[in-house]
Amino acid sequence: DPLPELQAFLDELHQTLASDLTGDVAHYIPELATSDPHTFAISITTKNGRTFQAGDVDVPFTLQSVSKPFSYALALQDIGCAEVLQHVNVEPSGNPFNSIRLDEGRSVPDNPMINAGALVVSSLLLGKHQEKAFERLLDLLQDLTGKPPRINLNVLQSENSTAHRNRAIVYLMRNLNMLDQDPEKTLQLYLQQCALEVTCADLSMMAATLASGGVHPLSGQRIFDPAVVRAVLSVMYSCGMYNSAGDWGFRVGLPAKSGVSGGLMAVAPGQMGIAIYSAKLDAHGHSHRGVLACQRIAERLGLHLFSAS
Ligand code: GLN
Repeated sequence: DPLPELQAFLDELHQTLASDLTGDVAHYIPELATSDPHTFAISITTKNGRTFQAGDVDVPFTLQSVSKPFSYALALQDIGCAEVLQHVNVEPSGNPFNSIRLDEGRSVPDNPMINAGALVVSSLLLGKHQEKAFERLLDLLQDLTGKPPRINLNVLQSENSTAHRNRAIVYLMRNLNMLDQDPEKTLQLYLQQCALEVTCADLSMMAATLASGGVHPLSGQRIFDPAVVRAVLSVMYSCGMYNSAGDWGFRVGLPAKSGVSGGLMAVAPGQMGIAIYSAKLDAHGHSHRGVLACQRIAERLGLHLFSAS
C-alpha cells in the first residue's frame, strides 16, 4: 500500500518542481496571459474520498479543455452513445486541439477532445436541452464539486472577443452539415463551459468520480453510468492529450485531459483521480509541470494501465 508515503512524496514533488518555470502561459486568450505562473497545486483523491494535496489547491482556474470529457459524458448520458457516435467520432486526430482540418468525406469531427468535436458535442447538448443546456452543465459541475459553480466572466469575455478560430471552425462545420444548431449559440455554450472555474482540489474530486465508475467518492451519488465512464476514459486515453496522446499513453499510461489554463487531470480507474494546476504550458498546450508531476506520480505509484503487477 503506497498511500502512507503518498503525502510525503507529494510534498517533495511539489518542492522539487516549484522552481521549474519552463514554458509559457496561454496568450491567445488575453485574460489567461495574466495567470500567476508561480501558482502550483497537486491534488489526489482516491475512489474512497481520501485526499492528498500539495500547494495552492484552493486557487480557482478555468476548466478550458478539461471540461470536454464532462460535456461529452453529459451528452452520452442524456442522448445515448449510439446517437452521439453518429455525430462525433472517437479517432485520435494527431492534430493540435484547435485544428481546423476536417475530413469532409466522413462529415464528423475526429473526436470530442479537440475543439471541433467539443463544439459538435455542444450542439448536441443544445439540440437536446435548448436554453437549459448550460444549466445542465452547471448542475453536473455542482454534483461533481459539491458547491455552486462559478463562471469567470473576464475569461469568457476575453475568449469570446478573440475566438476567431473557434468561430471559423463552428461555421465551417455548420456549412458541412456537421451540426444543425445555430453556430453562434453553439460557440457560446462551448465558451461558457470552458470558462467554468474549479480548484485543483475540485478537479481531483471530478477525476476521482471517473475513477470510481461514475459514483462520487464523498456524496455516493451515481453521476454517470459505468458505460458512459468507460466510453469517456477510452477517448481520454487515445485523444485527451491531442497530438502527444501516443507519447503520453506510452509513458504515463493513464487517461488524461489538459486545458490551456494549465489544469491537467488523470484517472487511474478503480483507484484515484489526479489533478495538477500550473499555468505555464508546453508546445502542445499541456501544463508543463502538470505533465512532469503526473508522470512522476504514475511512476511512483505504478499506475500505468499496462504494467502487470
Ligand atoms: N477554450 C479553449 C479554446 O477553445 C480551450 C482549449 C484548450 O484548453 N486546449 O481554445
